[in-house]
Amino acid sequence: MVVANQKGGVGKTTTTVNLAASLALHGARVLVIDLDPQGNASTALGIDHHAEVPSIYDVLVESKPLSDVVQPVPDVEGLFCAPATIDLAGAEIELVSLVARESRLQRAIHAYEQPLDYILIDCPPSLGLLTVNALVAGAEVLIPIQCEYYALEGLGQLLRNVDLVRGHLNPTLHVSTILLTMYDGRTRLASQVAEEVRSHFGDEVLRTSIPRSVRISEAPSYGQTVLTYDPGSSGSLSYLEAAREIALRGVGIHYEAHPAHALSQNSQQSVSEGIQ
Ligand code: ATP
Ligand code: MG
Repeated sequence: MVVANQKGGVGKTTTTVNLAASLALHGARVLVIDLDPQGNASTALGIDHHAEVPSIYDVLVESKPLSDVVQPVPDVEGLFCAPATIDLAGAEIELVSLVARESRLQRAIHAYEQPLDYILIDCPPSLGLLTVNALVAGAEVLIPIQCEYYALEGLGQLLRNVDLVRGHLNPTLHVSTILLTMYDGRTRLASQVAEEVRSHFGDEVLRTSIPRSVRISEAPSYGQTVLTYDPGSSGSLSYLEAAREIALRGVGIHYEAHPAHALSQNSQQSVSEGIQ
């Protein structure tokens, strides 16, 4: 699953790591591939990613096997990460002159033999060769959309890129999932954006939206996902719920809100407002 949106700061990394942790806590084996030179997903998962660490750069540019760079995530059983180091910043340019430059990640994933249920790829905020590698490698695209003004601007460009990659390099690629992030139920703007996104994308939009939550934004500074940092918080519960929705959809089961979701925490209010 490719987590992409060329707009910066919309919650790609937050969504990648917290969905991945949620799926792993549900018992799945999950690999996060950090494809952003900023290395934010690696940081959030508590994975060392200073310049000497074997990383996804080595996989893409030096053709190192993915298994040589994957590390287990501390604290979450079944969760793994292929980290990104600052080297990756040069990869956009270095890839240009390499053979099969768009499909190097796809090849590496195909050659990876460890059993996995999900791979989530965190993309940088651009539509360059790194994101193209993710789109070629992926089965489906998850687009996080921040519930703010301008949220839909630039989305057309991303959708056209998905179409281009589908047309030329990956015939089954499709946008399967839209997730509304940083939803603030107190503002009219957030519900207007949510409504617009739902009317445009329909069933692809998860019923669960992610509330704006301080706990979500604090967790990475402790090298943790919100699932381990504050398991009972509204942010944690909403990512668990979103993961449940994705997992059930994957096996064709119609989603119903989990009874546990009707928790009486006041913080839960904004989550359920997002679902309605
Ligand atoms: P980039 O384009 O730079 O890679 P991104 O799309 O990966 O950014 P994030 O890094 O996930 O976005 O989020 C941007 C900022 O918003 C971060 O500081 C993150 O902690 C914060 N954030 C994300 N989701 C939430 C949320 N639901 N509530 C509060 N803060 C959030
Ligand atoms: Mg990011």
